[in-house]
Amino acid sequence: MRYISTRGHATALSFNEALLVGLASDGGLYVPAAWPKLSFGEIRSFRGKPYAEVAFAVMSPFVGGEIDDVDLQQMIEEAYATFHHPAVTPLVQMGPNDWLLELYHGPTLAFKDLAMQILARLMDHVLTERGERIMIAGATSGDTGGAALEAFKTCDGIETFFMFPDGKVSDFQRRQMTTVGADNCHALAIDGSFDDCQTMVKDMFANQAFASRVKLSAVNSINWGRVMAQVVYYFTAATALGAPEQKVSFTVPTGNFGDIYAGYVAKQMGLPIDRLVIATNENDILARTLATGNDKLGSVKATITPSMDIQISSNFERLLFEAAGRDPTIVRDLMAALKHDHNYSLPDEMIKFIRDSFDAGAVSEVETVDEVARIFRDTGYIADPHTAIAVKVAHDYADPEVPMVTLSTAHPAKFPDTVHDATGKTAHPPVWGDIPRERSESVAYLANDRACVEEYMLKHSRLGLEAYQSHTA
Ligand SMILES: *Cc1c(COP(=O)(O)O)cnc(C)c1O
Repeated sequence: MRYISTRGHATALSFNEALLVGLASDGGLYVPAAWPKLSFGEIRSFRGKPYAEVAFAVMSPFVGGEIDDVDLQQMIEEAYATFHHPAVTPLVQMGPNDWLLELYHGPTLAFKDLAMQILARLMDHVLTERGERIMIAGATSGDTGGAALEAFKTCDGIETFFMFPDGKVSDFQRRQMTTVGADNCHALAIDGSFDDCQTMVKDMFANQAFASRVKLSAVNSINWGRVMAQVVYYFTAATALGAPEQKVSFTVPTGNFGDIYAGYVAKQMGLPIDRLVIATNENDILARTLATGNDKLGSVKATITPSMDIQISSNFERLLFEAAGRDPTIVRDLMAALKHDHNYSLPDEMIKFIRDSFDAGAVSEVETVDEVARIFRDTGYIADPHTAIAVKVAHDYADPEVPMVTLSTAHPAKFPDTVHDATGKTAHPPVWGDIPRERSESVAYLANDRACVEEYMLKHSRLGLEAYQSHTA
């Protein structure tokens, strides 16, 4: 399988190469040159199969034989064995044809675990085969850091550093990052804001001398490996509810558009998905784009659903590429307009293409809290606020004839304040996800200063300075 850039100027890559580079050199995102198709019979055979078996069947066409089948199977087994539910992503019935797909049974209670756990293993495997080592740098406002550090702790060839704004993540989120207990995983508390952390990571990549010396890499949501992993649960959920004989719809709490785009990929592979419904918070740029065809950037508003506080949804570019009939010149023009004029207008046929598969709805702050309360009142279920947003939008688009699956992306214990405000209840983490108070924290407190953080990274890399020196020699 070859991977091509949505902007058409970067060289096509193999799966393994696309896995390691993330962003394409022309600023575009990698997508498969053609969609692999699964037959009606193959999809039907997924019903009742263990998650890992379906995962192998869905992922292997994308890997295209570049990783040995036995190795791939074993990595998938190990990745999903870290989940604390036999179904990995169980369905919970909320009403007639109304389902929740719980994506939060992984080690950090976040849906990000589903992709990170396999991505880490795949990257480490490819690097080990090549005899290479890399360093990963990331910035987190709370959620992604924990999932990434936890996933990469088993990777011998990868040294991972995550920066977070000191004092501005929750206690639980900080402790998830600082108690990983692996000497290749580092949590860095920066004296600054999340934006400062993000800017610092960008500047590190721009600092060629440092970036090439340590082989700096990222694990953001545009990495094809992450998208691929997320395709799997659309298949397990839909087949459990009667696909491929029965159509199924999905509603997804959306930020960077990675999760819902994976649903679109499942549809391209042959899964009979009826509607894909985008749910956003007050950062409703995607809902407005679908309604008007105009994508106009504003400033990001901080909400009680921080994982959806995004203006530019990076993975949306992959959908634009399809809507443009895979013409990279159209994508380049749209992205240039977005960069220079902070908005673009989609041609009618592109809007129509997107509306053929997608709907969208936005939910305000007040409505979010009300919905967490309503769900608890009506069903006794405690939903995290991201999930509640999707549940509310799902009800607006529900078709009584078609099962609607709403993706539940976080355990409510990760957002205790909102849950308590809405329900009067304290959402406790499950026993396995809790972090005992006595577990010691390992964290470095660093100034908001790129050179100082880079020096720390070089000094504290388990591989030692020499490893990086010999690399560039
Ligand atoms: C990351 C995240 C999302 C958004 O997923 P995207 O793939 O970025 O659209 C939604 N909810 C939670 C809890 C998340 O952590």
